[in-house]
Amino acid sequence: MKIVVLKFGGTSVGSIKRIKNVAKIINSYHKKKYKIIVVSSAMSGVTNKLIRISKDVSNNFSPSEYDVLVSSGEQVACSLIAARLSHLGLKSRSWLSWQIPIITLGDHKNSKIVSIYRKKILNYLKKGGIPVVAGFQGININDRITTIGRGGSDASAIVLAKFFKAERCIIYTDVEGVYTTDPNKLKKARKIKVISYEEMLEMASLGAKVMQPVSIQDARLNRINVEVKSSFKKGTGTLITKRKNIINNKIIAGISSTQNDAKVSLVGVKDKPGVAAKIFKPLSENLINVDMVVQNISANGKETDLTFTIKSDDLNKTKKIIGSNKNIKFRKLLLKKNVSKISIIGVGMITTPGVTFRMFQALANKKINIQVISTSEIKISVLIDKKNTNKALIALHKEFKLNR
Ligand code: ASP
Ligand code: MG
Repeated sequence: MKIVVLKFGGTSVGSIKRIKNVAKIINSYHKKKYKIIVVSSAMSGVTNKLIRISKDVSNNFSPSEYDVLVSSGEQVACSLIAARLSHLGLKSRSWLSWQIPIITLGDHKNSKIVSIYRKKILNYLKKGGIPVVAGFQGININDRITTIGRGGSDASAIVLAKFFKAERCIIYTDVEGVYTTDPNKLKKARKIKVISYEEMLEMASLGAKVMQPVSIQDARLNRINVEVKSSFKKGTGTLITKRKNIINNKIIAGISSTQNDAKVSLVGVKDKPGVAAKIFKPLSENLINVDMVVQNISANGKETDLTFTIKSDDLNKTKKIIGSNKNIKFRKLLLKKNVSKISIIGVGMITTPGVTFRMFQALANKKINIQVISTSEIKISVLIDKKNTNKALIALHKEFKLNR
């Protein structure tokens, strides 16, 4: 059986007109003789509205009832899609998680799908039916309805693709795919045709808007080919797949940038074991997310400087935490708002020498000062003044030949 999973996000099913359009898309796969499993999210805005209602009823709304309530948006969308498919003369019906069933483990509001019973759906597919499965929900061992976290219908689709060994999982959304960089920031950004799971995960700041990062990780672990595409515009989207499938790979797949970062430097901290832990422990206890961390080598063997970045919003809190902590000794505390992290991402840099140099030179040519550098196997990040973000994006996009 040639199975494909088609997942539709909230905006794709956001109105009756759009639901009719979704039915047309599904029909086009039916004509190509695919066995189709449809997964739908709730119509856009519905889940948020249900959550607001739960808060109006009680600020102590029971988690199990919360799951019953907020999972209902998917039920509506699935029934509308199935009904529209029937209207077009196709055999279709909605499937709620308990009817399949889709089994989850873990707490309410944040469960994880661990197993899907295949028998009923397989029978239905064999009889030529198109099942429309409610995303975002499951049941636990007590037969209670569960939900799997906001944006969870991506995860539902990936896990369905895994259990039914689908050839591909197609995520229909309101953007045309993944771009080399944020198209709102750079006009020359172009759609990426194929990208590896690893690159996609590193591009989280770009990718997160397109797909839930945990689902990408799930797809990677299960080797599922995922295509992200628009339900509004025709044309191919972005295929997320294993590295081996990518031929004539560009060295750099994409460039991401952050906004609203701040830099914190502790000058003259003692160079001895436990110092960094002392600094970061209270930050983590206060849920302050630390991003880049750099420690200089100590020139005299006694003192060193430690620099890290956080979100600007956390700057005051961080200043207080460090200032009031008697366990942390340093000579000077330097704080700087309005910095931005620019990262170039690509598996090609593993095998291609000179990428680092090219990045630094391209920035130097534009007189952009680099404040902090950090690297991983497939990513090089630099911290620069926020005002230079666009200049840097333009320069790097050109340097790595991403402008078409
Ligand atoms: N409707 C759910 C939410 O808004 C699940 C999803 O959209 O993926 O979080
Ligand atoms: Mg959604």
